[in-house]
Amino acid sequence: MNALVTRRNAVLGITAAATSFVVPSILRAQSAGRIVVVGGGFGGAACARALKRAQAGLQVTLIEPNKTFTSCPFSNEVIAGLREMDAQQFGYDRLAAEGVTVAAQAATAVDAQKRSVKAADGATFAYDRLVLSPGIDFHFEALPGYDDAASEKMPHAWKAGAQTLLLRRQVEAMADGGTVAIAIPANPLRCPPAPYERASLIAHYLKTNKPRSKVLILDAKDNFSQQRLFERAWKELYGDMIERIALSQGGRVTSVDPATMTIVTEFGNYTPDVANVIPPQRAGRIAEIAGVADHTGWCPIDPVTFESKLVKNIHVIGDACLGGGIPKSASAASGQGKACAAAIVALLAGRAPETPRLTGVCYNTVAPGYGFLLAGNYQPKGDIFAEVEGGATSPVDAPRELRAREATEAERWFQIITADVFG
Ligand SMILES: Cc1cc2nc3c(=O)[nH]c(=O)nc-3n(C[C@H](O)[C@H](O)[C@H](O)COP(=O)(O)OP(=O)(O)OC[C@H]3O[C@@H](n4cnc5c(N)ncnc54)[C@H](O)[C@@H]3O)c2cc1C
Repeated sequence: MNALVTRRNAVLGITAAATSFVVPSILRAQSAGRIVVVGGGFGGAACARALKRAQAGLQVTLIEPNKTFTSCPFSNEVIAGLREMDAQQFGYDRLAAEGVTVAAQAATAVDAQKRSVKAADGATFAYDRLVLSPGIDFHFEALPGYDDAASEKMPHAWKAGAQTLLLRRQVEAMADGGTVAIAIPANPLRCPPAPYERASLIAHYLKTNKPRSKVLILDAKDNFSQQRLFERAWKELYGDMIERIALSQGGRVTSVDPATMTIVTEFGNYTPDVANVIPPQRAGRIAEIAGVADHTGWCPIDPVTFESKLVKNIHVIGDACLGGGIPKSASAASGQGKACAAAIVALLAGRAPETPRLTGVCYNTVAPGYGFLLAGNYQPKGDIFAEVEGGATSPVDAPRELRAREATEAERWFQIITADVFG
């Protein structure tokens, strides 16, 4: 597949995903069902919108504590001072206008017997089918010394919002000649290439503003997604400003001490000026409360319907589910949201759901005007999603014009997916 076709497919992939689960009009007239969706991010909002569009008679309730969603995609640009936070934020007015009932609450409990969800204000929501898309929470027990209080000194910035701005302020306040350390956990994690994109964009900021400074990556992995593309870009753009200590060199972080700003690895201790500590992750806490997370901390599902393997009538989508080969990304989450909506409509109508084919698209921007793409197609295989043919990645030796085009297309991708999910 040539690069032009690859890029076009990738951008259009979002639109194709949006229309590939159209429900026959005869079903739209069928009797109502009550669907509660917990979590109004890329997975949950896409699912709620698709449900209502597929079958107007459904009662769809979206439970989400934040009135405004703050997007992680493109939040690395905010940290690097290339973008402001308001460009990351999206409301739920469009979903409400389309008939989704939006409850601005956190879900605190699920009663799978009675099929109801309890919210923080005490309200209960009955469901025929429940969809959980709570994203991630942090596995603090796996990183001694790190907790919510520590994140105020050593921000993770792995949920976008206040943490993103805190890391930005710390990088801006650092003196020239300082070191920004980024601690990266082992897989599975939300958006596997994003830590390396972050290292790149922070290096861009430092090169422009504080050229004697350094980015130190402490990595619990030896290999990472699109490694050759990143490493080539680092050499070309940042010389030796970015240093990476991989797993086999002792890069895995084993504990932290926020009081002394110390990061402890298998090789030695580091006291950087700015410590961006990304902790190990698991499904959002409500998944565990609902009983749909297993010993891994993630949620096993039937990949055709997204129904939990552990609790009937609860579906899990997005970062929280055990997706197999499909990376945890916004494009995967929104595709899963739509496919899950189609499966629920089919199940309510007593039909067999169609086998979904999902597209995951990931752009990485390593400097303004310099981006690259990874796109994959995924289908159910046994209990998980497996990659199938048709995926593509940018060539390592591509000319700078292609890198510039892919950076532009990354912005277009963001506009398309956020309009598609939030309206
Ligand atoms: C720095 C960074 C960069 C990224 N860049 C990209 C990118 O370029 N492309 C890409 O495709 N992906 C990217 N991602 C990944 C992407 O952000 C996630 O994969 C995606 O957001 C997952 O969608 P989700 O619906 O599972 O979770 P989220 O989008 O996080 O949504 C979860 C929602 O659930 C809500 N919630 C949680 N618990 C409850 C509860 N108890 N009750 C009610 N609501 C609850 C939360 O408030 C949140 O709004 C990036 C991630 C990071 C960290």
